[in-house]
Amino acid sequence: MNDIKSVARGFSGKPRFLQLVFVDIDGIAKGMEVPIGRYEEVITEGISFDGSSIPGFQGIEDSDLTFKADPNTYVEVPWEGVAKIFGYIYKGKKPYYADPRRVLRSVTEELKKEGLTAYIGPEPEFYLFEKNGSWELKLPDGGGYFDLINLDKAREIKRTIAHYMPSFKLIPEVLHHEVGPGQHEIDFRFADALTTADNIIRFKYLVKAVAESYGLYATFMPKPLFGKPGNGMHLHISLWEGNRNIFIGEKGLSEEALYFIGGILEHAKALTAITNPTVNSYKRLVPGYEAPVYISWGYANRSALVRVPAYKGNGARIEYRCPDPSANPYFAFAAVLKAGMDGIKRQIEPFAYVEENVYELDEKKRALLGVDTLPSTLEAALEALRKDKVVKGALGEAYHNFIKYKTKEWRSYQEYLEKTEIPIDTIEITEWELERYFYV
Ligand code: GLU
Ligand code: MG
Ligand code: MG
Repeated sequence: MNDIKSVARGFSGKPRFLQLVFVDIDGIAKGMEVPIGRYEEVITEGISFDGSSIPGFQGIEDSDLTFKADPNTYVEVPWEGVAKIFGYIYKGKKPYYADPRRVLRSVTEELKKEGLTAYIGPEPEFYLFEKNGSWELKLPDGGGYFDLINLDKAREIKRTIAHYMPSFKLIPEVLHHEVGPGQHEIDFRFADALTTADNIIRFKYLVKAVAESYGLYATFMPKPLFGKPGNGMHLHISLWEGNRNIFIGEKGLSEEALYFIGGILEHAKALTAITNPTVNSYKRLVPGYEAPVYISWGYANRSALVRVPAYKGNGARIEYRCPDPSANPYFAFAAVLKAGMDGIKRQIEPFAYVEENVYELDEKKRALLGVDTLPSTLEAALEALRKDKVVKGALGEAYHNFIKYKTKEWRSYQEYLEKTEIPIDTIEITEWELERYFYV
């Protein structure tokens, strides 16, 4: 294997292995590698594997699955002699219901039947840490929002990431230091929902690989440090009919866009279970760190759950600020699109329009404006999900796997708190969370 940085020095290896990539219920990349000579077989017949130990897939009694690659997703890792390809999972001849990529595809196909394509642009944030054996994390820099030069020790790392992005079919748009010390954001060009979900998986891999080559760890966990900003993954969403962005209105947004916001607000609590699916996610959704807490919308308002950014030309879109990078992007997009489409179908007017800082409104004013709060724990979010047919429906049969898996995750956290005698409502970040979420 060549050193990761050697590519910039002219190494160009042809891949000898093909990595077949799918994601588990958590949205974590899994897969196997085959010699590149099996490419034809992988895209035609597919390759069978035992799925019984993949988190959120099925039990041992019924575990034979087949991976069939999607040739459009082929990319070569420039420094490693390996190519990566995404695919779909089958059970016998039938699409496998718990395959997250399939779940999103079903939703985008439904949109297609109505002549629509959803485009999504994400803003994934991450921290870089120095780490030895323990959980005492050291920050490589003390910079803050938009700091440059000596306060941003990761400037070369970000540029190295951006340099490699095109090899992974990612078009870098903006790199910057985020608010937290050692926290960064790299945005890439929006694409249709399925492509963007694939892009997020590739992006996380690339960021982690480059960070590692510099002796650092990149983490996308929603709140790695108590008292510091969390990692969000805002989503910019628009709906298109052919070449026409249907979110463009005569003045600002179209009716469809407003109803789409209405749908998101109506389903916000249940959506949270899918866009913020970890115990740690809820330690980000607290006042004071530009993360949403209240169910509201507005134009310039960064304290709102849904924001409408100013736009030029065809750029009309909404920004959904709740999601974090621990979400399975396929599930998250499926759920958000279904919620928005429900808004359009039922012509749900968006309530809770707020232009002030929502955090600063008192309870009475919030009640007057109809501003409700997001769930404050994974458990509360799962409870909301159980009651929401539309959001459940977005996952199809995979909903049952999801709710079972996540309920278990919540219980296992509760058991840890009990055993360690940590208060049940602790807002601090526990070792249990770091162990479970830091590396993914
Ligand atoms: N880090 C913030 C969050 O948790 C977002 C900061 C920003 O507006 O980019 O969502
Ligand atoms: Mg940001
Ligand atoms: Mg944003």
